[in-house]
Amino acid sequence: MSRLILILGDQLSPSISSLDGVDKEQDTLLLCEVMAEATYVGHHKKKIAFIFSAMRHFAEELREAGYRVRYTTIDDEDNAGSFTGEVRRAVTAIDPLAICVTEAGEWRVKSELESLEGAVGVPVEIRPDTRFLATQDEFRDWAEGRKSLTMEYFYREMRRKTGLLMQGDEPVGGRWNFDAENRNPAKPDLLRPKHLVVEPDEITKEVLGTVEALFSKNFGTLKNFGFAVTRKDAERVMTSFIEDFLPNFGATQDAMLQDDPYLNHSLLSFYINSGLLDALDVCKAAERAYHEGAAPLNAVEGFIRQIIGWREYMRGIYWFAGPDYVERNFFGNERPLPGFYWTGKTHMNCMATVIRETMENAYAHHIQRLMITGNFALLAGIDPKAVHQWYLEVYADAYEWVELPNVVGMSQFADGGFLGTKPYAASGNYINRMSDYCGTCRYDPKERLGENACPFNALYWDFLARNRDKLKSNHRLAQPYASWARMSEDVRHDLRAKAASFLARLS
Ligand code: FAD
Ligand code: SF4
Repeated sequence: MSRLILILGDQLSPSISSLDGVDKEQDTLLLCEVMAEATYVGHHKKKIAFIFSAMRHFAEELREAGYRVRYTTIDDEDNAGSFTGEVRRAVTAIDPLAICVTEAGEWRVKSELESLEGAVGVPVEIRPDTRFLATQDEFRDWAEGRKSLTMEYFYREMRRKTGLLMQGDEPVGGRWNFDAENRNPAKPDLLRPKHLVVEPDEITKEVLGTVEALFSKNFGTLKNFGFAVTRKDAERVMTSFIEDFLPNFGATQDAMLQDDPYLNHSLLSFYINSGLLDALDVCKAAERAYHEGAAPLNAVEGFIRQIIGWREYMRGIYWFAGPDYVERNFFGNERPLPGFYWTGKTHMNCMATVIRETMENAYAHHIQRLMITGNFALLAGIDPKAVHQWYLEVYADAYEWVELPNVVGMSQFADGGFLGTKPYAASGNYINRMSDYCGTCRYDPKERLGENACPFNALYWDFLARNRDKLKSNHRLAQPYASWARMSEDVRHDLRAKAASFLARLS
């Protein structure tokens, strides 16, 4: 019986469940670059190029392994423009008796796959995505009935399940979490090794040309494209991270530096999320480095927690919270996203730096996303759906299942605390402590009210004041509310007036 196996652009793993039991003689694998996926938001050019090039290389890998592969490029004149259209074309050409696909990573595509059978008239088998540690049902079982969905407890379950950094039932080193050792600022370090850059090969060069021609108006630049697009190169990036950066990953995890966009981060999210790397393999490689004495426990535990803790947790939350999660707006924020999110043209040096780096690299590290662009949007009361859309567009690792809970839940607190315990709101003081951005900024992070006052300061207090009714019972905010109460009436008034005038100019 011949079957058609549909493989989506973030399913580029030889272990993907849809490949189980494929008959290389009879079955045909289908990969297709379609406009519907390339345009449902205006993705960063580098994101589109990365995914298309990785898909083309994966198709080659599959052909070399003896599979029959049908591949449609985005500029193929017969391209039907959607998964359903391309499956229909393949059904007409091949006449398969059944279709098989691994479940989609987001609600939008899930619903398209569920209507595929009716649309093309061939039975469709949708298999679970086994690349995650916790199934959607397991996460639901863990989450249901809990008062609070604290990530830390979920993470411990994942440590027990995988045995990573475990000694019997106990965590290696006697503690589950070494974050207390991981919150240092960083100094510029000219001797820091350089992150691996992969030169584009002929396939990638062709993709870059096509993306520039078809998506010239999209956000960002294609210049200096250096992503790995094959499993082999992604593994080289992983090895170089483990050897050169993992030992210092923990210590500088929360730091931000003007001319060092990557610091000791791994730059592996692109590859893990698209399927080029397996999340558990990456964690095991980091764990090995610890056991071989090549990286300290605080770094390795911190790194593994990001993957088997935060990454898995975010995916669990995405499916558990349901398709309406995107509509959450706890603070009722309605302000449109300021134009400088698309250009980086603002006098706030922290914002300008992170946005410019995002335009260049389709990347910003976690603290830049959370405490600079995310923090500003939260303090300024930007519509969380607009913020979500921006994050989905501008980062090459952005897929809704991981981006949405990070933005709506963690960064914008738009779910009112479903995911996090308090909003990640901070004044210029925090940014000054954790980065060197303020030194060359037009504004002064220590000033609250003067001409040169850092806008984050008045915005921070205004955020707390205007959302007091919603936040005052949160014990984690007791200290800032106590500080606000200690300020004189005049200062409070002036801070709110300063914020109002800044926000009026923003609009
Ligand atoms: P490292 O700092 O080296 O971390 C190692 C790995 O841990 C990452 O590769 C990633 O797989 C995982 N990880 C770390 N933090 C998280 C997290 N909070 N959620 C899920 N996985 C995590 N991550 C995405 O993959 N896609 C997104 O679209 C995305 N959007 C985000 C939006 C906001 C507002 C915030 C605050 C975070 C977002 N993250 C997203 C999480 C995190 O910022 C990125 O995973 C990380 O910056 C990727 O860079 P890296 O590979 O160098 O990570
Ligand atoms: Fe950002 Fe304020 Fe520092 Fe300028 S002074 S870089 S606006 S935190």
